[in-house]
Amino acid sequence: MQSERAETYAKCTTDLELAPTAAAAAGAFDTALTNGLAAIVAHEWSTQVAYADGRIKSASALLKVVEEAEEAIADPEQAGVFVLPDPEPDKPAAAPTDTPWPWVEDFPSLPPLDTRINVETLRDGLRRTQPVRHASGTGTLERRHIDALLALDDHIALQCLSSEHADRAWEDAKDADAHSRARAAALLLRIGDEEAARRSQTAAELHEPYHPKHNPEGLDLQNCPVCGYESFSSDHQDDHGMGLGVGQCLVCHYERTADTAEEEAQAQIFATRWAD
Ligand SMILES: [Zn+2]
Repeated sequence: MQSERAETYAKCTTDLELAPTAAAAAGAFDTALTNGLAAIVAHEWSTQVAYADGRIKSASALLKVVEEAEEAIADPEQAGVFVLPDPEPDKPAAAPTDTPWPWVEDFPSLPPLDTRINVETLRDGLRRTQPVRHASGTGTLERRHIDALLALDDHIALQCLSSEHADRAWEDAKDADAHSRARAAALLLRIGDEEAARRSQTAAELHEPYHPKHNPEGLDLQNCPVCGYESFSSDHQDDHGMGLGVGQCLVCHYERTADTAEEEAQAQIFATRWAD
């Protein structure tokens, strides 16, 4: 049930961008929000996800649950935003010293994976989609509504958008990359070295290497900057030809976007010029 909710959330959130009409977007927003919130509420406060008769609560009723929950901390800087703290904020730092990935502790400013639920904006989004769904207006969702919906994905009950290939290009590339690294580091520490080694072995076996005839687009597996395994699978490389793969690590799931690859490639080019 929980994974179906996460899937529906991810699918509808991705659909939103491609929605051909305001009405389609409104429907996708409502469905994504209801499923995303139901997954979060079921995970945090399992008794409150449904009414007494067993029906799952509506999105606005679920927003109320979040708003009234003791564990949800009201953000003092932004009215209407409630924060569910990362259940394991110190995970990387608290790793045993013999971890095979000592450098994961050195990532600058690892953002904690708190979940920020912008109740006010989400409620406003719902309000705007009502007239459309009842065929009495066009309703206009703005980017802030979509951003608030996307932010739910940081919750452990969801974390499913990257696999849905959501185009998150509007996010600041650095932020997105730091996030991806933090998630990968947390995953790595959770699965442990034995499982990581097993995954890298499988990745090597399944990987289809470059072949001039059979797989001319193929790139060799690259070294992953997070787990250090030769398991980074690239769809293609950066536009400057610096060999920075755009893709995902098959061990720790670190994802390098085209934006990040572009930035890193430029940094390398500048560094090379200065060195000359
Ligand atoms: Zn990795």
